[in-house]
Amino acid sequence: MDEPTISPIEVDENELQERLSPEQFEVTRRAGTERAFTGTYWDTKTPGLYRCVVCDLELFRSDTKYDSGSGWPSFWEPISPDRVTLHTDSSYGMIRTEARCARCDSHLGHVFPDGPRPTGERYCMNSASLELDPDES
Ligand code: FE
Repeated sequence: MDEPTISPIEVDENELQERLSPEQFEVTRRAGTERAFTGTYWDTKTPGLYRCVVCDLELFRSDTKYDSGSGWPSFWEPISPDRVTLHTDSSYGMIRTEARCARCDSHLGHVFPDGPRPTGERYCMNSASLELDPDES
């Protein structure tokens, strides 16, 4: 079966500013970064689905989350490659790969090539961009 295609949506930032916390808004819509070891999910091990806090798209599963030691929630892959778009980010004098939600274009974090097997990638995300939907127990 083919992966469903993600259709981009427009985001109303005025509505969003009322719904999100200031930090969630700054991270998702202004490509901010939460301080390490301060976010809601950096050390979370609860089984479930991590969704985009802005548009609810399922982005990551807890079984691909691992302890990277970075202080940010880290995953070795998204639920499917079409969930996240990758962009070159040359801010702060570094060349990094920015990850954004494929549906609402919100900033999620960055991807680094120092992750564990099987992908060798580290999706270094901001808790502020995510919402955990815990599995039913
Ligand atoms: Fe989104």
